[in-house]
Amino acid sequence: MERTFIAIKPDGVQRKLTGEIIRRFETKGFTLVGLKFLKVSRELAEAHYDVHKERPFFAGLVDFITSGPVVAMVWEGEGVVAAARKMIGATNPLTAEPGTIRGDFGVNIGRNIIHGSDAIETAQREIALWFKDEELVNWQPHSMAWLH
Ligand code: ADP
Ligand code: MG
Repeated sequence: MERTFIAIKPDGVQRKLTGEIIRRFETKGFTLVGLKFLKVSRELAEAHYDVHKERPFFAGLVDFITSGPVVAMVWEGEGVVAAARKMIGATNPLTAEPGTIRGDFGVNIGRNIIHGSDAIETAQREIALWFKDEELVNWQPHSMAWLH
């Protein structure tokens, strides 16, 4: 089953959006298979954003992600990678559609509340970076058949 990596960034945690964000993924019908609350090390932040290391915003991004705790999650479900990106909205919250998480709650591209993997291969890389195998729970809700 397809999985994606989602992180509520320090701004989302401090603005108390954790419950709202988890609620959206739960009620959409996706299944939580991994969850942790942590202060991110520079090493993990730099590895996570490695593709952006040449960008001018990289240093500020790493400073920000390491500035306070984040909620790291793995969500599972059919089409979850692309669906989560849609639920999250465009990178710049000012242009993100209303109804998306960034569109509903943000204004600043550098404080855009949440991260979501952009492709299946990226998701696999990010899940392996943030979670050990034994931290992921393989399970299926009994009501799964009703959720599709
Ligand atoms: P996304 O998170 O939508 O996949 P990107 O992968 O392009 O976006 O960028 C990673 C993160 O870097 C963004 O979520 C945002 O926090 C930050 N970022 C991207 N572009 C900028 C920018 N121009 N200025 C400041 N921060 C940026
Ligand atoms: Mg990205």
